[in-house]
Order: sequence, then C-alpha cells, then structure tokens
Amino acid sequence: MHEYSLAHALLDGLTDHLREHPVAGRITAVHVRKGELLILSEEALAEAWRILTAGTPLAGSALRLEKVPVKVRCGSCGYEGPVKYAGEGWHFAVPILACPRCEGRAEVIEGRELAIIGLSVDEVTG
Ligand SMILES: [Zn+2]
Repeated sequence: MHEYSLAHALLDGLTDHLREHPVAGRITAVHVRKGELLILSEEALAEAWRILTAGTPLAGSALRLEKVPVKVRCGSCGYEGPVKYAGEGWHFAVPILACPRCEGRAEVIEGRELAIIGLSVDEVTG
C-alpha cells in the first residue's frame, strides 16, 4: 500500500534523525510537509503510522500534515513560483503544470515531497 510505504519512509528517516539528535521527552506529534501533487489518503497514512510506530518511542504520536502548494521553474523564461489552477472557486482546484507567464514547459520544484519539518515533544520533568 502506497501510504504504508510513505509512513515507513518517514519513520525510517525520523529514526535515523533521533539516533543523532535524541529528544528528552515523549514525542506527541510529527509535523510533515505534504506536497499538493502527492496523492494520498490521510486516514490510511495515519493508520499506517499507528501500526508502524507501535512499540517504538514514537508510539502514540500523531502525524500533522501541512500542505505545500505546487511551485514550478520555467526553462524558457526563467519564471519560478506558484502555478495557475483550473477550476478555481470550485471545491477542488487542479494545478496546471505549465509556466503561468509564457505557458512553456515547467519543471515542478515543490509539491511532490513528503518531509518531516518538526516535532512536538512533551518535556519530561524530574
Ligand atoms: Zn515561462
């Protein structure tokens, strides 16, 4: 399952990070940037996270997703920034992956990632 392997990759990365930078306390939430183009079920991801973290120091922590809009770079005119959306004003807007300035081919530079950006930790006292 897609979400399962994503959760696994997050956990792997976080485990490596914590080995080098241990935290004093219980991790209550893991903050993650999720690119707009990365299609996943947040429920399935949370469920995979729950299963994978069971029995680890991350058990009971929540994943908090922060959506990252698409950003492109244009090879023709050098534009770099957000894209236009089709169906704006609708419930669901679809990013158009072309240069909004010259309509040339644009390379996606942001919007496909799933990356950990921070942790919430309950400090242990005493
Ligand atoms: Zn352009």
